[in-house]
This record gives sequence, structure tokens and C-alpha cells, in this order.
Amino acid sequence: MGRHPHKEIRKAITEAEEAGLKVAESSGHTWGYVTCACGQRIAVYSTGRNPEFGAKLIRRFAANHRNHEEPR
Ligand SMILES: [Zn+2]
Repeated sequence: MGRHPHKEIRKAITEAEEAGLKVAESSGHTWGYVTCACGQRIAVYSTGRNPEFGAKLIRRFAANHRNHEEPR
């Protein structure tokens, strides 16, 4: 699994993994996806105009999906 080129997003991805979420790389404009056991996922974009905002979205998703396995 490759490393995301942006440091803040890399940290957010690591935090998501520590929260029990799955991170998978994809190809194309999207770097990959963070997926929860409940089936929801968010796209992780390659470095764009606002990587800090992307990192914030990943952190929010991880916080919302930490420690739960049932669909919300
Ligand atoms: Zn979830």
C-alpha cells in the first residue's frame, strides 16, 4: 500500500485505520477510499487544492464511524 503524498492526509488515514476502518487505494483521480464495516465510505483524493480540508473530512468520518458495526 502506497503512502499518500500529503502529510496531513497521511496522518488522518493512519487515525482512521486505528479507529478500525479499512483504507484501500484505487486508481485515477481518487487516491483511495476509507471504508467502514457499516458499508459507508468516503473518497480520499490525491493532493488537491485543499488537502487540510480533505484530512478534516477523513477525521470526521473516522470519528462518526469509530466503534460501531451496525448501519446508522
Ligand atoms: Zn460506519
